[in-house]
Amino acid sequence: MKEPRKPTDFAQQHGKDDRMYGERLHDPYQARGKYPEPSLCPDCGAVFEKGRWHWGSAGAGAHEQRCPACQRIQDKQPAGVVTLKGDFLSAHRHEIISLIQNAEKKEKPEHPLQRVMAIEDQDGGITVSLTDVHIARAIADALQHAYEGELDYEYSDKDTLFRASWSR
Ligand SMILES: [Zn+2]
Repeated sequence: MKEPRKPTDFAQQHGKDDRMYGERLHDPYQARGKYPEPSLCPDCGAVFEKGRWHWGSAGAGAHEQRCPACQRIQDKQPAGVVTLKGDFLSAHRHEIISLIQNAEKKEKPEHPLQRVMAIEDQDGGITVSLTDVHIARAIADALQHAYEGELDYEYSDKDTLFRASWSR
């Protein structure tokens, strides 16, 4: 039997586009127009030009501005947190950590703000903190795609924060 459509469905679907790269206007770490162009991040070397951060050279006279990813790392304020637990995790720890690292390797060359901040052992499981909701969601989805298991996640603060828990 089909469940009746909830009134919140529209709002959730409507908000979907805001989750795309760099379009989250409400994110205090990605406020549009905050950075003069070109800007160069002194920590990671990413360059802000034409409205987006990319890897490249800024040339002389670039403004020094820490990028949102490095600012989050500095502040210890992840945009995404994925917690992992379960016996399967314990038995396949290295393989699963590789999957997380590979997800970052796939994103980061094109998208400098998509990074793993930390992978930490916590309460018998693993907590992964990320600099952006997009890579956090990508890792949560990749875990379930590769290993199934139980995945719960939620966006909050106008889609600028993402939390997921995966267990198997
Ligand atoms: Zn940076």
